[in-house]
Amino acid sequence: ETTHFGFQTVKTAEKAGMVREVFDSVAPRYDLMNDLMSGGVHRLWKDAFVDWLDPRPGRDYLDVAGGTADIAFRILNRANRHMSVGTRPANVTVSDINYEMLSVGRNRALDRGLVEGLSWVVGDAEHLPLPDRSMDVYTIAFGLRNVTNIDNAIADAYRVLRPGGKMMILEFSRVVIPLFDQLYDTYSFKVLPLMGRYIAHDEEAYRYLAESIRRFPPQDELAQRMAAKGFRQVRYRNLSGGIAAMHTGWRL
Ligand code: SAM
Repeated sequence: ETTHFGFQTVKTAEKAGMVREVFDSVAPRYDLMNDLMSGGVHRLWKDAFVDWLDPRPGRDYLDVAGGTADIAFRILNRANRHMSVGTRPANVTVSDINYEMLSVGRNRALDRGLVEGLSWVVGDAEHLPLPDRSMDVYTIAFGLRNVTNIDNAIADAYRVLRPGGKMMILEFSRVVIPLFDQLYDTYSFKVLPLMGRYIAHDEEAYRYLAESIRRFPPQDELAQRMAAKGFRQVRYRNLSGGIAAMHTGWRL
């Protein structure tokens, strides 16, 4: 059985390992590269994502492919603004297939003095080591693209959510503005790998990034695939002309 790794065809059984290698190799420089490659814009996208989510205390959040915990920190900060006497704080479980990425996240949490309300779980988004119906919100930011079978991951999101729970995806998508899409292509396939070579010393990892973005389903298709796994009221919003998009859907 085969699947894709960027534009290469690889054995399905090998893809997760290859993705793990990519993120092992970039983990220490991951945050810096994110800022450089996106000109800091990924921070605004993540802010917009958590704005739309509007986190509250007393709920159980799961951030899958949570990496260095950018989303988890935003959720906790936002939820705790709404704390009042007698409310239970929000719980955020950060999960990632890659131990190195989670360790960077855990160190960042310690630096910020964040311990309460955070837990860390190594696991594959296709079969999370978590019980059925145990979470109120499932988020995945720039992660679904890396999963071998995204339909399995969407189905597993549905499984771990309680009825009334919400799934939210933040992912690169399709640029919907003519001409801007060509500019973006040049950036992705010419500039990115060069930045990868000179800054992260790993051209291949950043070539994979550009290719995996191109292979990911566009806005409407992703919405349909969420609906196909049972999510209801699926909606999306574009960010920066569709460079990224946010999708939401409910388990009812
Ligand atoms: N969510 C973080 C953010 O927005 O900064 C990290 C995004 S990073 C581009 C992608 C993450 O997906 C990596 O940390 C990687 O280890 C993780 N990942 C890749 N394949 C995965 C899988 N099958 N299950 C869970 N996480 C996975």
